Amino acid sequence: MIPYGRQNIDESDIQEVAEALRSSLITQGGLVTKFENKIASYVGAKHAVAVNSATSALYLAYRAMGIDKDSIVWTVTNTFVATSNAAILCGAKVDFIDIDKATWNISVEALEQKLVLAREDNSLPDVVTVVHFAGLPCEMEPIWKLSQDYGFRILEDASHALGAKYKGEEIGGCQFSDAAVFSFHPVKMITTGEGGMITTNSSILAKKALELRSHGVTRESEDFTRESPGPWYFEQQDIGLNLRLTDFQCALGLNQLGRLGSFIANRSEIAYAYLDKLAHLPLSLPNVVESSQSSWHLFVVRVNAPKNRDDVISHLRNKGIAASMHYIPVPYHPYYQELGFSLSDYPESENYYRTAMSLPIFAGMTEEDLEVVVLALTEALS
Ligand SMILES: *Cc1c(COP(=O)(O)O)cnc(C)c1O
Repeated sequence: MIPYGRQNIDESDIQEVAEALRSSLITQGGLVTKFENKIASYVGAKHAVAVNSATSALYLAYRAMGIDKDSIVWTVTNTFVATSNAAILCGAKVDFIDIDKATWNISVEALEQKLVLAREDNSLPDVVTVVHFAGLPCEMEPIWKLSQDYGFRILEDASHALGAKYKGEEIGGCQFSDAAVFSFHPVKMITTGEGGMITTNSSILAKKALELRSHGVTRESEDFTRESPGPWYFEQQDIGLNLRLTDFQCALGLNQLGRLGSFIANRSEIAYAYLDKLAHLPLSLPNVVESSQSSWHLFVVRVNAPKNRDDVISHLRNKGIAASMHYIPVPYHPYYQELGFSLSDYPESENYYRTAMSLPIFAGMTEEDLEVVVLALTEALS
Protein backbone atom coordinates (compact mmCIF):
# COMPACT_ATOMS: atom_id res chain seq x y z
CA MET A 1 0.00 0.00 0.00
CA ILE A 2 1.16 3.56 -0.73
CA PRO A 3 0.15 5.40 2.48
CA TYR A 4 -1.35 8.90 2.45
CA GLY A 5 1.54 10.00 4.66
CA ARG A 6 4.48 8.50 6.51
CA GLN A 7 7.65 9.39 8.41
CA ASN A 8 11.07 9.88 6.82
CA ILE A 9 13.71 8.29 9.09
CA ASP A 10 17.35 7.94 8.06
CA GLU A 11 20.51 6.48 9.63
CA SER A 12 21.51 9.81 11.17
CA ASP A 13 18.14 9.96 13.01
CA ILE A 14 18.76 6.48 14.41
CA GLN A 15 22.30 7.41 15.48
CA GLU A 16 21.15 10.58 17.24
CA VAL A 17 18.47 8.69 19.17
CA ALA A 18 20.95 5.93 20.10
CA GLU A 19 23.40 8.52 21.38
CA ALA A 20 20.71 10.25 23.45
CA LEU A 21 19.80 6.89 24.98
CA ARG A 22 23.41 6.42 26.13
CA SER A 23 23.46 9.68 28.09
CA SER A 24 22.71 9.89 31.82
CA LEU A 25 19.42 11.78 31.42
CA ILE A 26 16.94 10.31 28.95
CA THR A 27 14.19 12.67 30.03
CA GLN A 28 14.22 16.19 31.57
CA GLY A 29 17.76 16.68 30.24
CA GLY A 30 19.40 19.27 28.03
CA LEU A 31 18.06 18.08 24.68
CA VAL A 32 14.53 19.24 25.53
CA THR A 33 15.67 22.85 25.97
CA LYS A 34 17.88 22.56 22.91
CA PHE A 35 14.94 21.37 20.78
CA GLU A 36 12.69 24.11 22.20
CA ASN A 37 15.30 26.78 21.40
CA LYS A 38 15.84 25.45 17.87
CA ILE A 39 12.11 25.46 17.10
CA ALA A 40 11.68 28.94 18.64
CA SER A 41 14.48 30.36 16.51
CA TYR A 42 13.29 28.52 13.40
CA VAL A 43 9.77 29.97 13.59
CA GLY A 44 10.86 33.30 15.06
CA ALA A 45 9.01 33.08 18.39
CA LYS A 46 10.39 34.13 21.78
CA HIS A 47 9.38 30.91 23.57
CA ALA A 48 8.75 27.24 22.79
CA VAL A 49 7.46 24.54 25.16
CA ALA A 50 7.89 20.89 24.14
CA VAL A 51 5.17 18.38 25.05
CA ASN A 52 4.29 14.77 24.30
CA SER A 53 1.69 15.53 21.57
CA ALA A 54 -0.07 18.39 19.82
CA THR A 55 -3.19 17.35 21.74
CA SER A 56 -1.29 18.09 24.97
CA ALA A 57 -0.01 21.33 23.42
CA LEU A 58 -3.58 22.41 22.63
CA TYR A 59 -4.74 21.51 26.14
CA LEU A 60 -1.85 23.42 27.76
CA ALA A 61 -2.28 26.43 25.48
CA TYR A 62 -5.97 26.65 26.41
CA ARG A 63 -5.21 26.21 30.10
CA ALA A 64 -2.42 28.80 29.97
CA MET A 65 -4.86 31.23 28.32
CA GLY A 66 -7.19 30.70 31.26
CA ILE A 67 -9.83 28.69 29.42
CA ASP A 68 -12.21 27.09 31.93
CA LYS A 69 -15.89 26.31 32.48
CA ASP A 70 -16.86 29.95 31.97
CA SER A 71 -15.07 30.20 28.61
CA ILE A 72 -16.16 30.00 25.00
CA VAL A 73 -13.83 28.63 22.30
CA TRP A 74 -14.58 28.67 18.59
CA THR A 75 -12.77 26.72 15.92
CA VAL A 76 -13.25 25.49 12.38
CA THR A 77 -15.27 22.41 11.36
CA ASN A 78 -12.49 21.04 9.12
CA THR A 79 -9.98 19.84 11.69
CA PHE A 80 -8.93 16.85 13.74
CA VAL A 81 -11.14 16.35 16.80
CA ALA A 82 -8.28 17.22 19.19
CA THR A 83 -8.58 20.95 18.36
CA SER A 84 -11.99 21.25 20.02
CA ASN A 85 -11.70 18.26 22.39
CA ALA A 86 -8.86 19.93 24.28
CA ALA A 87 -11.05 23.00 24.89
CA ILE A 88 -13.94 20.84 26.08
CA LEU A 89 -11.58 19.04 28.48
CA CYS A 90 -10.77 22.48 29.98
CA GLY A 91 -14.52 22.89 30.59
CA ALA A 92 -15.16 25.35 27.75
CA LYS A 93 -18.24 25.63 25.60
CA VAL A 94 -17.16 25.16 21.98
CA ASP A 95 -18.67 26.22 18.69
CA PHE A 96 -17.67 25.91 15.05
CA ILE A 97 -17.17 28.10 11.99
CA ASP A 98 -17.74 26.86 8.45
CA ILE A 99 -14.93 26.63 5.89
CA ASP A 100 -14.05 28.92 3.02
CA LYS A 101 -15.18 27.55 -0.35
CA ALA A 102 -11.79 28.09 -1.99
CA THR A 103 -9.15 27.44 0.68
CA TRP A 104 -10.98 24.88 2.89
CA ASN A 105 -9.64 26.87 5.86
CA ILE A 106 -11.82 28.83 8.32
CA SER A 107 -14.10 31.27 6.49
CA VAL A 108 -13.27 34.79 7.68
CA GLU A 109 -16.67 35.92 6.39
CA ALA A 110 -18.53 33.26 8.40
CA LEU A 111 -16.41 34.11 11.44
CA GLU A 112 -17.31 37.80 11.19
CA GLN A 113 -21.03 37.05 10.73
CA LYS A 114 -21.01 34.86 13.83
CA LEU A 115 -19.13 37.51 15.83
CA VAL A 116 -21.76 40.14 14.96
CA LEU A 117 -24.52 37.87 16.28
CA ALA A 118 -22.51 36.86 19.36
CA ARG A 119 -21.92 40.49 20.32
CA GLU A 120 -25.69 41.08 20.27
CA ASP A 121 -26.39 38.28 22.73
CA ASN A 122 -23.24 38.65 24.78
CA SER A 123 -21.69 35.32 23.84
CA LEU A 124 -18.40 36.38 22.24
CA PRO A 125 -15.62 33.78 22.26
CA ASP A 126 -12.58 34.03 24.53
CA VAL A 127 -10.38 32.17 22.04
CA VAL A 128 -10.71 31.41 18.33
CA THR A 129 -8.50 28.54 17.20
CA VAL A 130 -7.59 28.59 13.54
CA VAL A 131 -6.17 25.56 11.71
CA HIS A 132 -3.75 25.87 8.79
CA PHE A 133 -5.42 23.02 6.97
CA ALA A 134 -3.14 20.81 4.85
CA GLY A 135 -0.33 23.31 5.55
CA LEU A 136 -1.99 26.30 3.85
CA PRO A 137 -1.86 29.33 6.20
CA CYS A 138 -5.18 30.93 7.19
CA GLU A 139 -5.78 34.60 6.48
CA MET A 140 -4.19 35.67 9.75
CA GLU A 141 -4.19 39.43 9.33
CA PRO A 142 -7.97 39.89 8.84
CA ILE A 143 -8.60 37.38 11.63
CA TRP A 144 -6.24 39.31 13.89
CA LYS A 145 -8.11 42.54 13.03
CA LEU A 146 -11.37 40.87 14.09
CA SER A 147 -9.72 39.80 17.35
CA GLN A 148 -8.93 43.46 18.06
CA ASP A 149 -12.53 44.53 17.32
CA TYR A 150 -14.22 41.73 19.22
CA GLY A 151 -11.72 41.06 21.98
CA PHE A 152 -10.76 37.41 21.60
CA ARG A 153 -7.41 35.65 21.63
CA ILE A 154 -6.08 33.58 18.74
CA LEU A 155 -4.56 30.11 18.94
CA GLU A 156 -3.08 28.60 15.78
CA ASP A 157 -3.38 24.83 15.43
CA ALA A 158 -0.31 24.61 13.19
CA SER A 159 -0.10 20.80 13.40
CA HIS A 160 0.15 20.72 9.58
CA ALA A 161 2.17 23.84 9.08
CA LEU A 162 5.73 23.68 10.43
CA GLY A 163 7.76 25.37 7.67
CA ALA A 164 4.76 27.09 6.05
CA LYS A 165 4.89 30.85 5.55
CA TYR A 166 2.25 33.57 5.76
CA LYS A 167 3.23 36.79 3.95
CA GLY A 168 6.88 35.77 4.13
CA GLU A 169 6.84 35.01 7.87
CA GLU A 170 7.19 31.51 9.33
CA ILE A 171 4.03 30.03 10.85
CA GLY A 172 4.63 29.78 14.60
CA GLY A 173 6.20 33.23 14.90
CA CYS A 174 2.81 34.32 16.29
CA GLN A 175 2.82 37.72 14.60
CA PHE A 176 -1.00 37.60 14.47
CA SER A 177 -1.77 35.22 17.33
CA ASP A 178 -1.18 34.52 21.02
CA ALA A 179 0.29 31.05 20.51
CA ALA A 180 0.72 28.26 17.97
CA VAL A 181 0.92 24.49 18.39
CA PHE A 182 2.74 21.90 16.28
CA SER A 183 2.47 18.11 16.04
CA PHE A 184 5.38 15.70 15.57
CA HIS A 185 3.24 12.64 14.84
CA PRO A 186 4.87 10.47 12.10
CA VAL A 187 2.63 11.78 9.30
CA LYS A 188 3.34 15.43 10.13
CA MET A 189 6.17 17.68 8.84
CA ILE A 190 8.84 16.30 11.19
CA THR A 191 8.45 13.55 13.76
CA THR A 192 9.46 12.60 17.30
CA GLY A 193 7.22 9.49 17.27
CA GLU A 194 4.62 11.28 19.36
CA GLY A 195 5.29 14.89 20.27
CA GLY A 196 4.23 18.50 20.07
CA MET A 197 5.29 22.08 20.73
CA ILE A 198 3.74 25.38 21.77
CA THR A 199 5.33 28.58 20.46
CA THR A 200 4.45 32.03 21.79
CA ASN A 201 5.89 35.49 22.30
CA SER A 202 4.24 35.75 25.73
CA SER A 203 6.52 34.91 28.63
CA ILE A 204 3.42 34.57 30.85
CA LEU A 205 1.82 31.94 28.59
CA ALA A 206 5.11 30.05 28.22
CA LYS A 207 5.73 30.00 31.97
CA LYS A 208 2.21 28.77 32.73
CA ALA A 209 2.47 26.04 30.07
CA LEU A 210 5.80 24.90 31.54
CA GLU A 211 4.30 24.69 35.02
CA LEU A 212 1.19 22.77 33.87
CA ARG A 213 3.36 20.41 31.76
CA SER A 214 4.79 19.13 35.05
CA HIS A 215 1.81 18.72 37.41
CA GLY A 216 1.36 22.45 38.11
CA VAL A 217 4.53 22.31 40.15
CA THR A 218 7.16 25.06 40.40
CA ARG A 219 10.79 24.68 41.50
CA GLU A 220 11.67 28.38 41.11
CA SER A 221 12.30 29.73 44.63
CA GLU A 222 11.28 33.28 43.64
CA ASP A 223 7.78 31.94 42.85
CA PHE A 224 7.29 30.13 46.17
CA THR A 225 4.51 31.30 48.47
CA ARG A 226 6.54 30.13 51.49
CA GLU A 227 10.14 30.43 52.61
CA SER A 228 12.06 27.51 51.06
CA PRO A 229 13.13 25.07 53.78
CA GLY A 230 15.73 23.33 51.57
CA PRO A 231 16.94 22.46 48.07
CA TRP A 232 14.49 19.52 47.86
CA TYR A 233 11.48 21.81 48.22
CA PHE A 234 8.95 22.55 45.47
CA GLU A 235 5.38 23.80 45.43
CA GLN A 236 2.28 22.74 43.56
CA GLN A 237 0.38 25.93 42.84
CA ASP A 238 -2.01 24.77 40.10
CA ILE A 239 -3.33 21.45 38.81
CA GLY A 240 -1.45 19.87 35.91
CA LEU A 241 -0.34 16.57 34.39
CA ASN A 242 2.87 14.98 33.14
CA LEU A 243 2.89 15.97 29.46
CA ARG A 244 6.67 15.98 28.94
CA LEU A 245 8.65 14.91 25.88
CA THR A 246 11.73 12.70 26.40
CA ASP A 247 15.31 13.65 25.49
CA PHE A 248 15.68 10.85 22.96
CA GLN A 249 12.53 12.08 21.19
CA CYS A 250 14.03 15.59 21.16
CA ALA A 251 17.23 14.13 19.67
CA LEU A 252 15.09 12.79 16.82
CA GLY A 253 13.23 16.09 16.49
CA LEU A 254 16.45 18.11 16.35
CA ASN A 255 17.90 15.91 13.63
CA GLN A 256 14.62 15.93 11.68
CA LEU A 257 14.45 19.73 11.92
CA GLY A 258 17.75 19.83 10.04
CA ARG A 259 16.00 18.14 7.09
CA LEU A 260 12.73 20.13 7.24
CA GLY A 261 13.76 22.30 4.28
CA SER A 262 14.36 19.28 2.08
CA PHE A 263 11.12 17.63 3.31
CA ILE A 264 9.14 20.69 2.26
CA ALA A 265 10.95 20.99 -1.08
CA ASN A 266 10.14 17.33 -1.71
CA ARG A 267 6.48 17.74 -0.75
CA SER A 268 6.14 20.87 -2.92
CA GLU A 269 7.59 19.00 -5.89
CA ILE A 270 4.99 16.25 -5.45
CA ALA A 271 2.19 18.80 -4.98
CA TYR A 272 3.09 20.74 -8.14
CA ALA A 273 3.42 17.50 -10.11
CA TYR A 274 -0.10 16.55 -8.97
CA LEU A 275 -1.44 20.02 -9.84
CA ASP A 276 0.01 19.61 -13.32
CA LYS A 277 -0.93 15.99 -13.99
CA LEU A 278 -4.45 16.17 -12.53
CA ALA A 279 -5.45 19.51 -14.08
CA HIS A 280 -7.49 17.92 -16.89
CA LEU A 281 -9.50 15.60 -14.60
CA PRO A 282 -12.99 16.41 -13.17
CA LEU A 283 -11.51 17.38 -9.79
CA SER A 284 -11.22 20.55 -7.74
CA LEU A 285 -7.57 21.00 -6.81
CA PRO A 286 -6.05 22.80 -3.81
CA ASN A 287 -5.86 26.56 -3.96
CA VAL A 288 -2.38 28.00 -4.32
CA VAL A 289 -2.42 31.30 -2.41
CA GLU A 290 0.07 33.89 -3.72
CA SER A 291 0.92 35.48 -0.39
CA SER A 292 1.51 32.18 1.43
CA GLN A 293 3.70 29.12 1.16
CA SER A 294 2.03 25.85 2.05
CA SER A 295 3.98 23.10 3.80
CA TRP A 296 1.87 20.60 1.80
CA HIS A 297 1.10 18.30 4.72
CA LEU A 298 -1.90 16.94 2.79
CA PHE A 299 -2.89 16.94 -0.86
CA VAL A 300 -6.68 17.10 -0.94
CA VAL A 301 -8.75 16.92 -4.11
CA ARG A 302 -12.53 17.16 -4.48
CA VAL A 303 -14.37 14.82 -6.80
CA ASN A 304 -16.82 16.67 -9.04
CA ALA A 305 -20.26 15.22 -9.76
CA PRO A 306 -21.40 12.91 -11.27
CA LYS A 307 -18.45 10.82 -10.07
CA ASN A 308 -18.80 9.52 -6.53
CA ARG A 309 -15.97 10.17 -4.07
CA ASP A 310 -16.44 6.86 -2.24
CA ASP A 311 -16.16 4.89 -5.51
CA VAL A 312 -12.96 6.75 -6.35
CA ILE A 313 -11.44 5.97 -2.93
CA SER A 314 -12.43 2.29 -3.33
CA HIS A 315 -10.81 2.13 -6.75
CA LEU A 316 -7.57 3.64 -5.40
CA ARG A 317 -7.58 1.28 -2.41
CA ASN A 318 -7.98 -1.69 -4.78
CA LYS A 319 -4.88 -0.43 -6.60
CA GLY A 320 -2.85 -0.34 -3.38
CA ILE A 321 -3.21 3.37 -2.66
CA ALA A 322 -4.38 4.30 0.84
CA ALA A 323 -6.37 7.37 -0.20
CA SER A 324 -8.08 8.89 2.81
CA MET A 325 -10.44 11.69 3.93
CA HIS A 326 -9.44 14.74 6.00
CA TYR A 327 -11.48 15.63 7.92
CA ILE A 328 -14.84 14.29 8.92
CA PRO A 329 -16.31 17.66 10.06
CA VAL A 330 -15.99 17.70 13.85
CA PRO A 331 -19.67 18.61 14.52
CA TYR A 332 -20.66 15.45 12.59
CA HIS A 333 -19.09 13.04 15.11
CA PRO A 334 -21.59 11.26 17.39
CA TYR A 335 -20.09 12.89 20.49
CA TYR A 336 -20.70 16.36 19.02
CA GLN A 337 -24.16 15.43 17.71
CA GLU A 338 -24.98 14.54 21.34
CA LEU A 339 -23.93 18.09 22.26
CA GLY A 340 -26.52 19.35 19.77
CA PHE A 341 -24.40 20.15 16.72
CA SER A 342 -25.71 19.50 13.24
CA LEU A 343 -23.69 19.31 10.02
CA SER A 344 -26.49 21.06 8.12
CA ASP A 345 -25.56 24.30 9.94
CA TYR A 346 -22.27 24.26 8.00
CA PRO A 347 -23.22 23.98 4.30
CA GLU A 348 -19.71 24.34 2.87
CA SER A 349 -18.39 21.66 5.24
CA GLU A 350 -21.29 19.37 4.40
CA ASN A 351 -20.49 19.68 0.71
CA TYR A 352 -16.76 19.28 1.38
CA TYR A 353 -17.36 16.13 3.40
CA ARG A 354 -19.18 14.51 0.48
CA THR A 355 -16.50 15.27 -2.12
CA ALA A 356 -13.02 15.57 -0.56
CA MET A 357 -10.27 12.94 -0.47
CA SER A 358 -6.55 12.97 0.42
CA LEU A 359 -3.96 11.59 -1.99
CA PRO A 360 -0.58 10.26 -0.82
CA ILE A 361 2.04 12.94 -0.18
CA PHE A 362 5.15 12.57 1.99
CA ALA A 363 8.87 13.27 1.91
CA GLY A 364 10.41 10.28 0.16
CA MET A 365 7.41 9.48 -2.05
CA THR A 366 8.83 8.39 -5.42
CA GLU A 367 7.96 9.52 -8.94
CA GLU A 368 6.78 5.94 -9.60
CA ASP A 369 4.37 6.19 -6.63
CA LEU A 370 3.05 9.43 -8.06
CA GLU A 371 2.51 7.88 -11.50
CA VAL A 372 0.64 4.96 -9.91
CA VAL A 373 -1.68 7.41 -8.13
CA VAL A 374 -2.25 9.57 -11.23
CA LEU A 375 -3.01 6.51 -13.37
CA ALA A 376 -5.43 5.00 -10.83
CA LEU A 377 -7.20 8.32 -10.41
CA THR A 378 -7.48 8.81 -14.17
CA GLU A 379 -9.04 5.33 -14.48
CA ALA A 380 -11.45 5.96 -11.62
CA LEU A 381 -12.65 9.22 -13.13
CA SER A 382 -12.97 8.11 -16.76
C1 LIG B 1 -2.35 15.71 14.15
C2 LIG B 1 -3.23 16.82 14.59
C3 LIG B 1 -3.51 17.07 15.94
C4 LIG B 1 -3.09 16.15 17.03
O1 LIG B 1 -1.74 15.94 17.02
P1 LIG B 1 -1.10 14.81 18.00
O2 LIG B 1 0.35 15.18 18.02
O3 LIG B 1 -1.36 13.50 17.34
O4 LIG B 1 -1.76 14.93 19.31
C5 LIG B 1 -4.27 18.18 16.25
N1 LIG B 1 -4.75 19.00 15.32
C6 LIG B 1 -4.53 18.78 14.00
C7 LIG B 1 -5.07 19.74 13.00
C8 LIG B 1 -3.78 17.67 13.60
O5 LIG B 1 -3.61 17.42 12.31
